[in-house]
Amino acid sequence: MTLKEPESMDELVYFTNRLLDNDGKVMAWAYKVDCPKCHKAKMGKPVEKGKVKTRANEYVCPECGYTEEKAEHEKRLTIEAKYTCPYCGFCGEAETEYKRKSFNGVPSFVFSCGKCQKKIGITKKMKLAKK
Ligand SMILES: [Zn+2]
Ligand SMILES: [Zn+2]
Repeated sequence: MTLKEPESMDELVYFTNRLLDNDGKVMAWAYKVDCPKCHKAKMGKPVEKGKVKTRANEYVCPECGYTEEKAEHEKRLTIEAKYTCPYCGFCGEAETEYKRKSFNGVPSFVFSCGKCQKKIGITKKMKLAKK
């Protein structure tokens, strides 16, 4: 598996690049997906006066205006990640569903290391995992 690294934030609904314990690190992103109605554009959070409404509860097609509810739309998204495992130091790539699960009590995107199989969590920003 070779993931294509994103070139621009414009093609993403999510991006993070962060350090983990023990010199581990993870860069993760989710690409926007095509509008299922017109197939002409990628859907994203609504934009108002040039600003993306990141807290909006829906995704909108900039081409035809088709709106999809957040939970429904996010089922079609995939988190792709490149990481250095904080447990075994393995450098790998992973894909996981765009769905936060509880990881040490914090909502996180979770995937398993391809080598040691330990779970690696991408926690929501600004929240520290409970030790
Ligand atoms: Zn559309
Ligand atoms: Zn590992």
